[in-house]
Amino acid sequence: MLPTLPHAHLPLLEQAAASRGNALLLTGAEYGGGAALARATFAALNCSGQRGMAGEACGVCPSCRALAAGAHPDLLELAPRETTSTGRAARRKIIPVGAILEKRDDKREFDTHVFEFLEVRPTYRRRAVLIHGAEYLGAEAANALLKLMEEPPHSAFFLLLAGDVRAVMPTLVSRSTRLNVTPLDDHALGAELDRQGDRRPDLNAQELVAFAAGRPEVLTHADEVAAALSAATSLHAALREGLLPTLEAAADLEKAWTPWHAEALRFVWREETPSDRARLDTALDTLERALEAYANPGLSFMVFGLGARAALGE
Ligand SMILES: [Zn+2]
Repeated sequence: MLPTLPHAHLPLLEQAAASRGNALLLTGAEYGGGAALARATFAALNCSGQRGMAGEACGVCPSCRALAAGAHPDLLELAPRETTSTGRAARRKIIPVGAILEKRDDKREFDTHVFEFLEVRPTYRRRAVLIHGAEYLGAEAANALLKLMEEPPHSAFFLLLAGDVRAVMPTLVSRSTRLNVTPLDDHALGAELDRQGDRRPDLNAQELVAFAAGRPEVLTHADEVAAALSAATSLHAALREGLLPTLEAAADLEKAWTPWHAEALRFVWREETPSDRARLDTALDTLERALEAYANPGLSFMVFGLGARAALGE
């Protein structure tokens, strides 16, 4: 499916498509709509059909159809990977220089490399590289990318997404047109949910919209979020029921754990007192650090359960 943008983000597409440069830096929360806007901008740049009021791609020309099928030959997307440096170092998210230059990809980690990808003529109008998490570009990778941005082969286009612009290399920022992808209000998010036609009876729309907190792309992960909220709610209730239920809920949490679960826990205990919440957050931070450092997961979740009970004075 072609990316459909929330109405509130259509003016951003207009600005993005009108920008004169060859690089666009979209800042805003992860799932906040930046990825959809980047893909919609790419679609618009390559569209040869009848464009919409805000310059939206037509959806039916050959380029639009290739993108909708998830097989556009001119788009390369890159996201950070969790890598472990030697020894007992923690997992760290990074986009290494091996993603940019084939000759630097010693471990053959990437199928396609940015440099080689951009040497090929576009099938449609412009090739583009979409970087999810520009703040995770290593220094060498950022420098290699910068060289390509200074003289883009075949008028290539660069779409950079970042949560925190201060963490992006300043030379990349200064080369880019910057747009801030603003959060939607709850009313607009509810309208998005309606537009997606996702009104299953088991879906608590109000809770999903509250959890999404202005981020439209969270709605496309409704099932994962609902599962995470349910597991978090069970653990939260178990904390006051007793030690055994807590340990059982913590073990269930371990089996199902995704990044959504950490966020769901913080969401379900938002109504605790600020001081209890601070102690619960500390227990969760400890868990996340332990998992990053490859500690024993079973033990880490058990310690987390005990810590969370202690946080509530149980
Ligand atoms: Zn089109």
